[in-house]
Amino acid sequence: MMARAAWPRGLTAALLTSALVLAGCASRSAAPSAGVGLAEAPAADTPSAVSLRDPDISDIAGARGQVLGRNDHLLLYRPAAGDSLRGIAARFLGNADRAWWLAEANPGTVAEVGVPLLVPLRPLNPLGVHADRMQTVPILCYHRLGAGRSKMIVSPANFEAQMTWLVHAGYHVVRLPELSAFLAGEKPLPQRSVVITFDDGYESVYRHAFPVLKRLGLPATAFVYIDFVGGGDALSWPQMQEMLASGLIDIQSHTKSHRNLVERKPGETEDRHRAAVDLELRVPRETLERRLAPLRVRYLAYPYGDADELVLDRAARQGVELAATVIPGGNPFYAQPLLLHRTMIFGDMSLETFKSKLQTSRPLSAP
Ligand SMILES: [Zn+2]
Repeated sequence: MMARAAWPRGLTAALLTSALVLAGCASRSAAPSAGVGLAEAPAADTPSAVSLRDPDISDIAGARGQVLGRNDHLLLYRPAAGDSLRGIAARFLGNADRAWWLAEANPGTVAEVGVPLLVPLRPLNPLGVHADRMQTVPILCYHRLGAGRSKMIVSPANFEAQMTWLVHAGYHVVRLPELSAFLAGEKPLPQRSVVITFDDGYESVYRHAFPVLKRLGLPATAFVYIDFVGGGDALSWPQMQEMLASGLIDIQSHTKSHRNLVERKPGETEDRHRAAVDLELRVPRETLERRLAPLRVRYLAYPYGDADELVLDRAARQGVELAATVIPGGNPFYAQPLLLHRTMIFGDMSLETFKSKLQTSRPLSAP
């Protein structure tokens, strides 16, 4: 039953009704013009709640309309000329970037003058579950960029075309901490959210991907294995420092040596194998945190995408919060944080194939 929360349709109708009643009451006692009299809602104490206090509307361009009614969760708003979703989000949600909350609560709206719209003051559907479908967040996995015919090498031109298309198609490229908060039910993500990752730590990430990501303002995570860093065509420490300093690129663990964590070496006892897995997880965390301070390492990409029960147990004990496989597909609210699905992007993919890999929604009937 829980998964069948029929928002926005049913809830919207109910809230519209109560909000209109509220507005009716308020108009008898408060000045009807700007609706500021309705702003004194009690402060919310949940950490994810936004401020409910109305800033001085004369400071906010793009949100000069009227508040028709509100409670702690929702506000009904009548846009005025010149209003925009970003302006309304800035006025009531304290952040213009939350305009997508409005877009999702009012499908198809553009803040039309006089047409009331809902302003969710808190995330109403943080898990992205609807009557017939659920939101899923794909994580893209790249390796090397450059020339060459290997499947594992994506040309810089293709990479740029893919990133540019994401931006133009309205995708939101999000960071791993945001995905973590989504899975914990703490923070909603825009419907078209996607995470970008690079495995191994090739120098070509710095040379070819970083400039594109910087130009478009897109965040990404590079999973590096420590034994590779500074080698032939690997990232150097100064390159990683520079990427981190941009605020866009995160550096996380791909183990120490890139050995397959689920395979026992010939003659390796259970105890020795466990100790080896611990070392593969601990060394990159300690090394990256020391060399790239104040970086915190809590995300992991399994070499070859492989993990078993022992690996999951050791990773959890070492405080790994998210870990990625290479099982393709998006991640819904119930995704296991240490077995995240991830979609490989190959060098021979056309842009059409790339688009088809972005699974941002799945029917409830086919979980
Ligand atoms: Zn790898």
